[in-house]
Amino acid sequence: MPEGPEVECVRISLKSIVGKKIQGIHLTELSQKYKKYKNKQTQFDQFSGHQIKKIERIGKFLIFKFDKKEVILNHLGMSGNWLLLKKKDQILPSHPKVLIEFKTLPNALFYDMRNFGQFKIYEDYNAVLQHKPIRKMGIDGLLVTFPIAEFLLRIDKKNYANREIGSVLLDQKLVAGIGNIYKSESLALANINPTRLVKTLTNKERCKLGHAISKTLHKAVEYMGSTFNSFRTPDGREGSAQNWHQVYGKKDKKCNDCETEIRRIVQDKRSTFYCPNCQL
Ligand SMILES: [Zn+2]
Repeated sequence: MPEGPEVECVRISLKSIVGKKIQGIHLTELSQKYKKYKNKQTQFDQFSGHQIKKIERIGKFLIFKFDKKEVILNHLGMSGNWLLLKKKDQILPSHPKVLIEFKTLPNALFYDMRNFGQFKIYEDYNAVLQHKPIRKMGIDGLLVTFPIAEFLLRIDKKNYANREIGSVLLDQKLVAGIGNIYKSESLALANINPTRLVKTLTNKERCKLGHAISKTLHKAVEYMGSTFNSFRTPDGREGSAQNWHQVYGKKDKKCNDCETEIRRIVQDKRSTFYCPNCQL
C-alpha cells in the first residue's frame, strides 16, 4: 500500500497536469463493473472544459482542485496509481479505471488492480475537509516542521497507553501518512522496540520517535518512495528508498549496526521488522 511519501511523490509527479484544461474525465468500461463507479459518469462530466488548479495531499489522500468550487478526493487504496500517458498509442497498464483527457498530452490514467482506490466528488473544499478520515486525521508526518508538542499530546491519549507502539503508529489519527514500511523504519531510527507499550515510553523516547518519523518520511520523499510491489511515480520513475531501509523486509538479515539478525513479528495482522539488539 502506498504510504504518505509515495502519495506525495505521485502528487509531485502529477504537477505537469496542473493548469491544463480538461477535455473529459472518463470512467472506463472496466470501472463500470464496480458499484463505486457504476453510473457515475455524468457526475464527472461537469469537469469538462475546466482547468486543474492544484493537487494537494492530506495524509494519504489526494485532492484535485479546479477552476470551479467542486473538488475530487482520490485515495490510491492498496494498489492504485496514476500514469501520465505521453503518447496517443501508449500501451495502457492493466485495470484502467479513470482517464483524465486533456486538450494536449499527457493524459492522466488512474489504474487500480485491487480496486480499493476511491474517487469522490465534493461540493467544495470545506466539504472534503469534513470527510471523516480527513477530519479525524492526525499530524501530517510530512509537515516541514514536525509539531513535536502536538505529537507528545496526541500519543499521550488514554486509548494508546496499553497498546504496543508498533501498532499505534499505524493509526492515522496520530500521525497521517505512516504505513507499514515507515512504521518499522521510524522505530528502528529511534531505537525503540515495537512491542513496547506506549505508557512505558519516556518523554525523551517519545521526542526521539517524533523526530525519527519526520526524518524517515521526508527522506522517503527525497528518494521518490519505496519501490515495493512495483510502485512507480506517474512519470515512470522508480523509488529507491528501499535501498536505505534498516529493517523493513530484512528478516534474518544482519543489522547494519550490530550484525544481530533482524526479526519479523506480527502486530494487528501487519508485519513489523526490528533489530532486537538495537531497539530496546
Ligand atoms: Zn542492531
